[in-house]
Amino acid sequence: MNIRSQFPILDQKIYNKPLVYFDNAATTQKPKSVIDALCNYYLTLNSNIHRGTHHLAAEATDRYEQTRRAVQSFIGARHSHEIVFTRGTTESINLVASSFGNRFLHQGDEVIVSAMEHHSNIVPWQLSCERHGATLRVIPFNDDGVLDIEAFKTLLNDKTRIVAVNHVSNTLGTINPIAEIINISHQAGVPVLIDGAQAISHMAVDVQQLGCDFYCFSGHKMYGPMGVGVLYGREELLEEMPPYQGGGEMIKDVTFEKTTYNELPFKFEAGTPSVGDVLGLHAAIDFMNATGIETIASIEAELTQYATESLQTIENLRIYGTAPQKTSVISFLIGESHPYDVGTLLDKFGIAVRTGHHCTQPIMDRFGIPGTVRASFAVYNTKEEIDALTAALQRIAPMLA
Ligand code: PLP
Repeated sequence: MNIRSQFPILDQKIYNKPLVYFDNAATTQKPKSVIDALCNYYLTLNSNIHRGTHHLAAEATDRYEQTRRAVQSFIGARHSHEIVFTRGTTESINLVASSFGNRFLHQGDEVIVSAMEHHSNIVPWQLSCERHGATLRVIPFNDDGVLDIEAFKTLLNDKTRIVAVNHVSNTLGTINPIAEIINISHQAGVPVLIDGAQAISHMAVDVQQLGCDFYCFSGHKMYGPMGVGVLYGREELLEEMPPYQGGGEMIKDVTFEKTTYNELPFKFEAGTPSVGDVLGLHAAIDFMNATGIETIASIEAELTQYATESLQTIENLRIYGTAPQKTSVISFLIGESHPYDVGTLLDKFGIAVRTGHHCTQPIMDRFGIPGTVRASFAVYNTKEEIDALTAALQRIAPMLA
């Protein structure tokens, strides 16, 4: 089936121009199968899971747990109970920063992140470090947006308790050498959390092959619904970590004297989850499997190369993030113009891009810029759309000079 025709939202006009959606790093559009899964859940299945004896509750529970196994196989986890459903990457990282921190972080300890993290892989660690008297250390990157692995090795020491880095930078598109980072960290006995928010829709991820201890991602950035995400955690670590939130479902027994906790993964899933969104995530995984991750990666690589070459024909356009290994993200500025002005003008051509610091202020500080314009591509984008972006920028650039 034609890929693009599965995305009804793309078939519309904005200001009487065909919509060109290049804000995929913020959120991807959803195929009809995902939208149908959400509708069908509310039309035919809505009920609370795990607690009911009636048919709907049993069926919804079954489908919810089937999705857990689909995620397990999608990312190659050893056990399905290593898959915890969350609201998204942000909640997954907060869960680990809080719970791992409560168990393993003490006064004088250190946590390593990189200078190209999204704020959601910085601030939760800052909060946890503050709480426990630990210090955050930062891996720098060079002008191309490549992490300095030698600097990382010097940061790693016997006070390091965890390393938390992204698989792919949402602003620079850099694919980080996470296998190497994991290897180096493990040699020092340090666990690693990978923020996979920007990798999961672009490449095959196998958590056992990578050997990471935690891997986090969001459904809405992989053609799935908003409101659902995943934390993969290695069983041994999840077992040792205390609950993140208290409430229904996460307990075994409650008395006023003492509460005992449920087994994995339920210990980390307090309260009613977003069941419909979880089932929508299953449909998104089915969409990605049916399309094929190799097909997705090769379409996006071709679009990225084409766009990089096309955009370089625009006078005074500078690209930020020129690492040799990149996904389909292009951040740029034109001359001295402000990114908001470029984004606002592009919108008038029906072209959706993101502007600003993209929740990565330390990257902007590193380059001494207020923000960038970011065009990011997904499997349904086309070269004709990139031509439309290039033509619009050619019109806009002289206005901004
Ligand atoms: N990490 C990265 C690299 C991201 O790009 C994003 C979102 O843009 C996040 C984390 C946060 O994801 P969410 O807002 O879905 O929790």
